[in-house]
Amino acid sequence: TGTPLAGRVAVVTGASSGIGAATAQRLAQLGAKVVVMARRKDKLDTLVDSIQASGGVAMALPVDVTDRQAVQAAADQITEQFGRADLVFNNAGVQLISAIDELRLDDWQRQIDLNITGVMNVIGAFLPHLSAAAEAGKPADLITTSSIAATRILEKFSIYSGTKAYISHLTRLLRVELGQKNIRVATIEPGMVDTELPDHVTDPDATKLMADLIDQIDVLQSSDIAETVAFMAAVPRHVNLTEITILPTAQA
Ligand code: NDP
Repeated sequence: TGTPLAGRVAVVTGASSGIGAATAQRLAQLGAKVVVMARRKDKLDTLVDSIQASGGVAMALPVDVTDRQAVQAAADQITEQFGRADLVFNNAGVQLISAIDELRLDDWQRQIDLNITGVMNVIGAFLPHLSAAAEAGKPADLITTSSIAATRILEKFSIYSGTKAYISHLTRLLRVELGQKNIRVATIEPGMVDTELPDHVTDPDATKLMADLIDQIDVLQSSDIAETVAFMAAVPRHVNLTEITILPTAQA
């Protein structure tokens, strides 16, 4: 059918641009009610308008996911307005690559705060939702965005790669505990996707490295990731696609 995710309540973080925005759109198209979270309210509002204009159901919650109380408040608001969430796409992340001896400590901290602490805040606030959904016999998905950087040894990627290695390994560990409770735990590890991600890097050499790759090869689009995440959530409840690596065909 056209609505394999009907009845699902999805939360997407990092939904104001790139992978998160495309995934929110796709999940809504497939029938899920979607809550979009990020800091830029104007972008979220535009996304919600566009989802609603195509007949979907969506709500914007401007939240900085590094703020634990704010994430908890959002989870409570979702319970009131949409019911408990059963599909959490824990996707907000930042990539600030640089050589370690440049000592960009602010960039190190921002990546750790968002890619690790932000991800944990979302898990803390929404695990009770996922548990309740699973106990009620419904599908329950916790899908986090990692990266091929989790396993590849890429020069200047140390802190970013460290945070993504954390995500990939966390997924394996949580799956052991939560799979038995019928919560599916998964991660998607993309290669190069054309998004705003490189725009935030403060090291000009690193920015150029990524811009060049986008020029040279046919990289992934956010819609490619969106389609994959939707698939991971739409398979039958006893099937857990746990780690999906998705690369542009021409990326080495
Ligand atoms: P974008 O920069 O387009 O998206 C990042 C999103 O995170 C934005 O919506 C941003 O919105 C949000 N965000 C940033 N800080 C916060 C915060 N404190 N609280 C809440 N939301 C926040 O890049 P992508 O779409 O590429 O990135 C999405 C994920 O994909 C990241 O985890 C990234 O590491 C991963 N990834 C990306 C790859 C790529 O090649 N693009 C490859 C592999 C993985 P706002 O500023 O409004 O808060």
